[in-house]
Amino acid sequence: MREREFGVHDGFSYSVAHEAVNVTTDATNVGRLAPSPTGALHLGNARSFLLAWLSIRSKGGVLLCRIEDLDGPRIKAGAVEQAPEDLDWLGLDWDGEPMLQSPRLPRYELALDHLRARGLVYPCVCTRSEIERAQSAPQESLDHGTRYPGTCRGRFSSSAEARDATGRDPAWRFRVDEGRVITFNDVVHGEVAIDVSADCGDFVVAKKDGQPAYQLAVVVDDGDYGVTEVVRGDDLLSSTPRQLLLAEALGISSPSYAHVPLVIGRDGRRLAKRHGDTRISSFRRRGITGDELVGYLAWTCGLRAEPTPVAPRDLCADFDFGRIDTEPFVFVEDPWRNE
Ligand SMILES: [Zn+2]
Repeated sequence: MREREFGVHDGFSYSVAHEAVNVTTDATNVGRLAPSPTGALHLGNARSFLLAWLSIRSKGGVLLCRIEDLDGPRIKAGAVEQAPEDLDWLGLDWDGEPMLQSPRLPRYELALDHLRARGLVYPCVCTRSEIERAQSAPQESLDHGTRYPGTCRGRFSSSAEARDATGRDPAWRFRVDEGRVITFNDVVHGEVAIDVSADCGDFVVAKKDGQPAYQLAVVVDDGDYGVTEVVRGDDLLSSTPRQLLLAEALGISSPSYAHVPLVIGRDGRRLAKRHGDTRISSFRRRGITGDELVGYLAWTCGLRAEPTPVAPRDLCADFDFGRIDTEPFVFVEDPWRNE
């Protein structure tokens, strides 16, 4: 077990024990594979993971595997175990043991306490339909959520008060100043500027059931484990400014970001069940090899001229984000459909 000091900011200092992860996170380059077990990994997920793997392995860096298992009811049975197996079959290795988020709840609570102590978050009892009704014209945020109009700002001094007054368990929202524009350099998209107050407004960092929101958990995890680069699908591009705001508030230094284009269907929508069975486990069951799938994925990214089999390590030598297609890949048909 090793201890590491981090997050020194306004007297906010604590240490974390790395019980499960037997790797040094003081490395210069630390990346992570972060599968979400809300469904089986499919082609689109595999493509993003391949790029995350190539980015860190081509630099000789450390790669962690974190299974984001906080989404309670949406977690599919067996998916927590399946994700590392799928990655392993693809030849995408990682350092140390896979980590889960669920044992780290006290850690997220500590971060939330810090935000409370600094007056940066407040209890909110609004339901989704109340938020929608509060808009004069419904306004959709970049990731298709609804902008929060600030109804509960300054309304309650504590969660107990919110509960007593309304009979509801409150969520906690992070306060976003009016006109707060966050600018960052994305490795794939270049300079990105998003007005967080106009886009989503004050956002949830802890849910009504006490679970940390995705935004808080990933920021705390990436900070604790010294993650220096995040490579993920560009459907998460618009959530990055929220994570940067939280990192700043918690005194955590932010990683670099590369938001890679997604795989979409002919209908322009993100790859899903309706586009056929593209689960990694299905390709494996059908006798297709990991190298065959990796070769196909590398070709869809523009990294190879032909979709011929290749091991991930053989793509490292000349890997560069400048070489990947910046448009989404349109999945038309299963390349092994006749096998
Ligand atoms: Zn509210």
